[in-house]
Amino acid sequence: MIQTGRDQNNIIDVLKTVFGYQTFRPNQEAIIRNILDGRDVFAVMPTGGGKSLCYQLPATLMHGTAIVISPLISLMKDQVDAAVENGIEAAFMNSSMNADEVSEVYRRLQYKKIRLLYISPERFAMPHFVERLKNADISLFAIDEAHCVSEWGHDFRPDYLGLSVIPKMFPYVPIAAFTATATQKVQEDIINRLGLRRPHLVRASFNRPNLYYEVKAKSKVDSQLLEFLRDHPGESGIVYRTTRDSVTATADFLKSKGVAALPYHAGLSAEERNRNQEAFNKDETQVIVATIAFGMGIDKSDVRFVVHADLPKNIEGYYQETGRAGRDGEPANCLLFFGRGDIPKIRYFINAITDERERLIAIEKLNQTVGFASHNVCRRKQLLGFFGEDYPGDNCGGCDICSGTVEQIDITIAAQIIMSAVSRTGQRFGTGHIIDIVTGADTKRIRELRHNEVKTYGTGKGKDKKYWRSVVDELIAQAALMQEGDPYPVLKITQKGSDILYGKEKITALRKEEAKPKAARHRGELEGYDEALFERLRAVRKKMASVQQVPPYIIFSDKTLHEMCKYFPSTLSEMRKISGIGDVKLQRYGEDFVREINLYLDENPAAITEIGSGNADQSADTHKNNKGETVEETYLFFRGGMSLSDIAKLRSLTPSTIASHLERLIQEGRHVDMDRLVDPEKRLRVEKFFLSSTEWGLDPVVEHFSGMVSYEEARLVRAHLLRNSSARD
Ligand code: ADP
Ligand code: ZN
Repeated sequence: MIQTGRDQNNIIDVLKTVFGYQTFRPNQEAIIRNILDGRDVFAVMPTGGGKSLCYQLPATLMHGTAIVISPLISLMKDQVDAAVENGIEAAFMNSSMNADEVSEVYRRLQYKKIRLLYISPERFAMPHFVERLKNADISLFAIDEAHCVSEWGHDFRPDYLGLSVIPKMFPYVPIAAFTATATQKVQEDIINRLGLRRPHLVRASFNRPNLYYEVKAKSKVDSQLLEFLRDHPGESGIVYRTTRDSVTATADFLKSKGVAALPYHAGLSAEERNRNQEAFNKDETQVIVATIAFGMGIDKSDVRFVVHADLPKNIEGYYQETGRAGRDGEPANCLLFFGRGDIPKIRYFINAITDERERLIAIEKLNQTVGFASHNVCRRKQLLGFFGEDYPGDNCGGCDICSGTVEQIDITIAAQIIMSAVSRTGQRFGTGHIIDIVTGADTKRIRELRHNEVKTYGTGKGKDKKYWRSVVDELIAQAALMQEGDPYPVLKITQKGSDILYGKEKITALRKEEAKPKAARHRGELEGYDEALFERLRAVRKKMASVQQVPPYIIFSDKTLHEMCKYFPSTLSEMRKISGIGDVKLQRYGEDFVREINLYLDENPAAITEIGSGNADQSADTHKNNKGETVEETYLFFRGGMSLSDIAKLRSLTPSTIASHLERLIQEGRHVDMDRLVDPEKRLRVEKFFLSSTEWGLDPVVEHFSGMVSYEEARLVRAHLLRNSSARD
């Protein structure tokens, strides 16, 4: 099949009218085109990359029903709700439904009343299910979390193996498989097992540009958390802790300080877990404090931060957990509190692993995590490097290391002191003992081994143990030292270390400065949207969500609200241009949000100018193709803070033309700040005059005030008066 120009327009059209988006995210368009061409697809895309759109969009254009296979029953409902909110006929079929509900879905399937049907792999394997599908009109199979089919992956599910019959049973139906995690090896395995036929391959970058990574030294973590939360008022987030007890303690602590926080761990009843998860989903609680048991069933797109209050066991887990932040593409924070005290706790669990190989792997993974937290190397570069991806560029601009809160210092001498102690004791001792030597500690072991006679004994007395530990960490991180042996690793000097020891090479470290400028902390300020309005729109969203019985982010994402708080759409047609608002949502919710925005603008007339005129360019763009292009342009300049006469000059038009534009805008019910156009006192007098006269001509006004009031002013006051009196009817 050849794509025609018409199809091409169709895709963009649907993107705008159904999903309310202006542009595709990377890879989406190519995937959709291939599906529409009838080709199989295999795509590895990170969380938040926008996988659902890749099958939902073609499903709306293809004949029949698209089957979406998804392993998590808890997510199906959200996905279906979200599709239905966009006006797509969607349904799911899973074990939580009774026989009547299932037959109803079959009936709708038979009568082609479903565009998207979500099922679990277990359902697919049930007797006769495939036959039922064969009797229906199937457009596409979309397989989510496709790595579950591979035994090499970390989440193998035997039920996925049953999906391998699809290409045999439905030879003409395209299959699109998606996952967020697959090494090359797993990728090949998935393609083979699912029998994909020369699929269109996508391996998207694992980079999550909107996530800010940060590591902080852990001291009193509960208070540190509280401080963090004070800088992120009202934002939804997850706090991960390792044990159930610490989850409970932290949740209680936060509650006692007035933070809406709930716990989540495997020790709670299923009922309580569900309740807390739902509360989080519905924005009824701000924070969820959880063990890593929490997260699989979380599709909430507006998680604004993920904090690890304890050291994660491995980088894969850390990436996946932090990946739950900012799915909507808006900025989100990933903060890790790193304290060395956490290492022995994890080692304790690792030591309990009986399989030797497995234990060594676990240790290796732990070391990688410690490395991630203690290396002074761009966090993003490290994370991506872990997945075999090379981050181009020197400064990611999105982590604590790159954002300039660190400075370079020379640690060559300190490094030589440590390595000299290591070398003089025969490279047979661990970190603790070496530090005892350089700090001149008087321990039994030192006396027994006569290490107080070593030349470097006590040379590092001037600094405390913590300092020397950080030097050792740095040397390990930069591969000057390495650790060998388990469970009591000893320090060994590498070639690079020996070059430093003998003065052939210098070594520097990046020292973090803790204090960050406070001003840069508030998200709204940073990204130029009105925070107060955001809070009000959130409240509107929450109200609607509870009426519709869906989570708030399914009504509108944070990103969509942020745009509203930046561009202040005050009519439905302006609202339509906001990202994430398709036709159906516009119809359903547009008015309530427009009303709230106008209300807000009436109360805070200066809001638009405060947010700055920087956004005018962007919205100018979205308004360009209107009939009233020139009127819109005037509006943009006006909103940007310019006066009527300045706009006239800039646009080489007469003031009266500009006034007529503004008049029209007022008539249309757009928000125009009258105080900026006519002195309030003067306006009152003019209004009084209008109200007392039977005719509303302009000449009598100008005459009456004998030159004090211009035609333009009279005209604007009149328009405003008329609009307000009709609005009050
Ligand atoms: P994934 O399944 O890959 O984790 P989702 O499909 O849940 O990601 O999409 C993440 C978020 O991105 C959702 O809120 C979705 O609505 C939004 N999104 C998807 N495609 C686009 C797009 N082209 N433009 C703007 N937002 C998009
Ligand atoms: Zn960086």
